[in-house]
Amino acid sequence: MPRGAVTRFAPSPTGLLHLGHAHAAIFAARLAEAAGGRFLLRLEDIDPGRCRPEYAAATGQDLAWLGLDWEGPVRVQSAHLPEYRAALDRLAGQGLLYPCFCTRADIQREIAAAGQAPHGPDGALYPGTCRRLAPAERTARIAGGEAHALRLDMAVALAVAPADLSFHELGEGWLRCDPGPFGDVVLARKEVPASYHLCVTHDDALQGVTLVTRGVDLKPATHLHRLLQALLGWPEPAYAHHGLLLGADGKRLAKRDGAPTLRALREAGRSAAAVRAMAGW
Ligand code: GLU
Repeated sequence: MPRGAVTRFAPSPTGLLHLGHAHAAIFAARLAEAAGGRFLLRLEDIDPGRCRPEYAAATGQDLAWLGLDWEGPVRVQSAHLPEYRAALDRLAGQGLLYPCFCTRADIQREIAAAGQAPHGPDGALYPGTCRRLAPAERTARIAGGEAHALRLDMAVALAVAPADLSFHELGEGWLRCDPGPFGDVVLARKEVPASYHLCVTHDDALQGVTLVTRGVDLKPATHLHRLLQALLGWPEPAYAHHGLLLGADGKRLAKRDGAPTLRALREAGRSAAAVRAMAGW
């Protein structure tokens, strides 16, 4: 356990917290406590279509009710878009990004035409259509106001990054990184000049998080995050991926499947201690 570890809980306020969130938050808080470190809270709310201020407010209330105490201020990602833009500019300055004008339908058509769809951790791999555009066409389409995402040119990124990237997983030791399976991942979306992968990596570096904790379902993303850290010269945290709470159907608890929310449990009269126990603590 790194002495003085700084951990964080970083939910996206797209709904009320459920037991899976409680498990993750308490995991992060306990590791910081055991290390004599600090526990932070961050709201990953860059998706304006899915995040709601009322869920952001409920997050703090539910965590406080559970008995958690975090060091403020809470970082709210939507208030920092220019910082993510600056990180993108640095990657663009290294020739690592290209604009992508494709719609989902364009990508699906291209994949169908190719007759195969290799998959990476984030879904079907981008077939590279816009990577092959001539610079003049890119410039003209941007000048014409066409909406575009920014993608990482994975082949170029892997060529400039150290070949022996690895990350330290608590209890497992050093694991070799293999970010290649992500392909040309989106780092800035059409509607938001940022993406989960960029913002989470940026903020963990900025906030001095030294031990990143999250569910094992996000472990593949860590391979990509180490690559971004190397490309941007950011420090390298240690990682602890925790197991996931499963519902009666054996699947990961998820809000879309109606996992009981902390608020509903509280309103049904459960004590915070009982809910912590239901969350595995
Ligand atoms: N915001 C992400 C989520 O709610 C988790 C971020 C992280 O811990 O890396 O799934």
